[in-house]
Amino acid sequence: MEESLLASAVIRYTAAAATDRGSKRASNEDAFGFSVEDGVYVVCDGMGGAAAGEVASSIAVDEMLRLLRGRAQSGSADRAVMLPQAAEEAVCAANQAIFSRSQRDVKLYGMGTTLVSLVAKERRVWVLNVGDSRCYRLRNRRLEQITRDHSLVEERVRLGRMTPAEALRSPLRNVITRALGTESSVTPDVFELETEPGDLFLLCSDGLTHELADARIESLLDAGLPLDELCGRLVEAAKKAGGSDNITCLLVRAEG
Ligand code: CA
Repeated sequence: MEESLLASAVIRYTAAAATDRGSKRASNEDAFGFSVEDGVYVVCDGMGGAAAGEVASSIAVDEMLRLLRGRAQSGSADRAVMLPQAAEEAVCAANQAIFSRSQRDVKLYGMGTTLVSLVAKERRVWVLNVGDSRCYRLRNRRLEQITRDHSLVEERVRLGRMTPAEALRSPLRNVITRALGTESSVTPDVFELETEPGDLFLLCSDGLTHELADARIESLLDAGLPLDELCGRLVEAAKKAGGSDNITCLLVRAEG
């Protein structure tokens, strides 16, 4: 009985985000966007010469929001079943949009971006990622990394050729093995989760995770502050720790 009551409880999501070019970079190639109404949240970290990275990351964010508009809204039950599939298709369409743009414009050739996206429909959440932008979940004051980086150092750690501590200091730590827009097709990882009231999701670029250890992120998130204040504190902490890259964080809280 208690379980069925819990399962029918309505979950409401609230969100906030912040981005900063950091202390060393001249521009900000990160991008983020979200629509609480549509249940779509995205963080992208662009790469490429000149302004190309900015173009790639904004195309990805815009395409995700555009293609998933209205998909998570209440309606027939099969819409919920379709949502993760629609999200995966949106990632592939965003990949195509960036790739074909880079083929048409020589100044943008080779541009790409990471992507981490969360889509929510009532108690169900799907997280999709390509590259090394991450999703974490804080539940019962414990931080857990949901995504796995598509990066050279992550692969080496997985194969036992590098320790996590070595990976953090490695000069190869920025090398990603999967990106959006650099090839004609891409496959995102997809994680399906059941939300509990109080869950706090963090989507972020590597400008945050390269500067702050998970334990530090956990203690900052555990402060019980409004989401926009938490975002500000994360960004400030990453800047204080060096701020060598663009920093973006997007927080999504499941309210009971
Ligand atoms: Ca970055």
